[in-house]
Amino acid sequence: MIRITHLSKTYGPVTVLKDISLQVAKGEVISIIGPSGTGKSTLLRCLNLLEQPDGGSIRVDGVDLLDKKSDVPKIRQRMNMVFQSFNLFAHLTALENLTIGPVRLQGLDRHTAEQQAMEILKLVGLAEKAHHFPDQLSGGQKQRVAIARCLAMRPEIILFDEPTSALDPTMVSEVLAVIRRLAREGMTMLIVTHEMDFARDVSSRVLYMDEGVIYEQGTPQQIFENPCKEKTSAFINRIRSLSWRIESPAYDLYAMNAELENFCEKQILPRQTRQHLLLLVEELLLLHGPLLPSTPIDLTIAYSEKKESIELVLEHRGETNLLQQELLPDELGLTIIQHLVQDIQCRRTDDVYRLTISLKSG
Ligand code: ADP
Ligand code: MG
Repeated sequence: MIRITHLSKTYGPVTVLKDISLQVAKGEVISIIGPSGTGKSTLLRCLNLLEQPDGGSIRVDGVDLLDKKSDVPKIRQRMNMVFQSFNLFAHLTALENLTIGPVRLQGLDRHTAEQQAMEILKLVGLAEKAHHFPDQLSGGQKQRVAIARCLAMRPEIILFDEPTSALDPTMVSEVLAVIRRLAREGMTMLIVTHEMDFARDVSSRVLYMDEGVIYEQGTPQQIFENPCKEKTSAFINRIRSLSWRIESPAYDLYAMNAELENFCEKQILPRQTRQHLLLLVEELLLLHGPLLPSTPIDLTIAYSEKKESIELVLEHRGETNLLQQELLPDELGLTIIQHLVQDIQCRRTDDVYRLTISLKSG
């Protein structure tokens, strides 16, 4: 239905979309996820011709959207968009918001348009509010009217740009329920969303966008349970991390501890976990200290909010894995480490020792 090839978009010096190629079949529900600022909205806006791409092509059923001769209003009706901020006409009632497009743009007579609008308002659960103005409606109701207005144009494809981001948490589910219903009825949809559980169960395909490209895509199961790439995994598991490169034996442990405390506080980690982390970092550095300054040490602490797990990764280019028992100068250090950690894995690739240490939870 939609075929996007090598789409690119630049704002001044910033390349927002680098090289996007994507095909969408009729009836597909595609969720687009990714950190903010990675071009998700820009992609939808290019599809809806609210932005002019710099390169590449977009075809819908073979029609070239970027052709100067193409009928933009007609394309927008076929591929209609729902915005984060509703964009309802404030001076029109819910019903009038739904009839204005079909009457003005599609030449429908008012009576038929109103009948049709009432049917659609019923579908989104808002027939009772037909004569209310937007400011008499809650956020969730406004967004359902916006979806209904979009449906009134009889689109073949709907583009949703974070349809629930402007809503109070209590109103998110009523909007998602409407979108779920459309999915069941076979509507083709592209949905930019931060609602991961929703994306997981409504989509036939999930795109993870980062660095101006479709960084990884797959079925919801692939993306949410088995992402292939590190950035996707970090995003899905809401991993926050803190890294240091230690190059001199005179490293400032107090400054590092302060940063670590700060990090733990931001992630709201329990006091005991903080103490364990501080102790673990200190012991690991003591053990690896002899490598300095000839071999720098890279230390990363990664906290997965979703799994509520903490992982430390220590990398160095030394000759040996210093956590091997027989090499240890002091037994106590190892005992402390063993007491704090759940699992330690050591791998050597390309001269780099990589210790991956999972902290015991609780
Ligand atoms: P997302 O929706 O993934 O958060 P956007 O597509 O909104 O990302 O924006 C991607 C980048 O493009 C951001 O860095 C943003 O600042 C920039 N950008 C978006 N719209 C414009 C614009 N009209 N002019 C200049 N820069 C823009
Ligand atoms: Mg956006």
